[in-house]
Amino acid sequence: MTSLHPRRVLVTGGAGFLGSHLSEQLLLDGAEVLCVDNFLTGNRQNVAHLLSNPAFELIRHDVCEPLRVEVDEIYNLACPASPVHYQVSPTQTIKTSVLGATNMLGLARRTGAKILQSSTSEVYGDPEMHPQRESYWGNVNPIGVRSCYDEGKRCAETLFFDYHRQYGLRIKVARLFNTYGPRMHPADGRVVSTFIMQALRGEALTVFGDGQQTRSFCYVDDLVEALTRLMATDDAFLGPVNLGNPVEFTMLELAMRIIDLTGSRSKLQYLALPQDDPVRRCPDIALARGQLGWSPGTRLDDGLVRTICYFEELLERGLGDSAELSLVRTA
Ligand code: NAD
Ligand code: UDP
Repeated sequence: MTSLHPRRVLVTGGAGFLGSHLSEQLLLDGAEVLCVDNFLTGNRQNVAHLLSNPAFELIRHDVCEPLRVEVDEIYNLACPASPVHYQVSPTQTIKTSVLGATNMLGLARRTGAKILQSSTSEVYGDPEMHPQRESYWGNVNPIGVRSCYDEGKRCAETLFFDYHRQYGLRIKVARLFNTYGPRMHPADGRVVSTFIMQALRGEALTVFGDGQQTRSFCYVDDLVEALTRLMATDDAFLGPVNLGNPVEFTMLELAMRIIDLTGSRSKLQYLALPQDDPVRRCPDIALARGQLGWSPGTRLDDGLVRTICYFEELLERGLGDSAELSLVRTA
């Protein structure tokens, strides 16, 4: 049976880094997009180019409050994502994950919409298994400074599976690993944005600890492709599924690549490793390969060059600093 209207898709956190790219792709795919955001860490600028599209709508709303709209699909991305941001107001962070998930699941239940949760590799905490598979239950400190995020996301996963078991909701749970690209906030404190901004400004790159801790970096376009593929899978496939790039780098290697690619003369400055900072992180993406026919295609250098261009442009337009200020005001 053909539908009478285009697919109506709600993207919570749609004015953020990932949400804005996802909204853009969904519009290209012919969907109507309802973008909901409270602009805590995202901003209108990220979706300004979409506002003239009649299929796009932007609503200022906090997902901790119920939302009454009619939609066919929900991507639940609303949540501060960088450690610096989510620790600004830890109580707000955990409420966003838990109340936000509850409200969006309630909406999905009323409308019959399919709902996807952007969970995180942080559910594995400081993992003792490498690479991390979905079957691993994790090693999370429940009372540490990162737990507002980690435990909030873990609880949201629980809520998703309980709503599925109890009410038969059509759910999808994606565990996202470190993702980078244009529209990251220049002052979000995440390692890629921080190192690039420091390199472009000729400041020392702040390497935490000895820089031997690892992460695997996925370019945003690859990640968005994975999210839309996951939403389109058969109802029987719920996840959780790891989405990320399985190529692992130390933070020292990342720093040297960024210095090289920017042609910067910046030096390195070693600072203390933050509390509970995971030592190693790398996804096993066999499930995503099998179920979604997906693997990330963008090489780190190629993605970094595109991201560097974005930050260079921000600096040229004098937005590097003003963006920082708006963040401090809203956080
Ligand atoms: P982001 O901070 O750029 O985007 C989050 C968006 O959610 C922002 O626009 C923010 O204003 C909005 N938001 C926050 N609290 C809200 C609330 N209570 N109500 C409505 N909107 C709210 O971060 P991002 O990197 O785009 O992350 C998007 C999602 O993906 C998050 O759920 C994050 O946990 C998840 N994720 C991201 C990564 C990554 O590396 N980027 C990794 C793992 C998981
Ligand atoms: N990091 C760093 N210097 C910085 C910011 C981060 O060395 O200025 C390190 C951080 O300690 C962590 C890694 O980079 O080991 C990734 O940090 P990020 O905040 O990007 O994300 P996380 O994976 O920790 O959530």
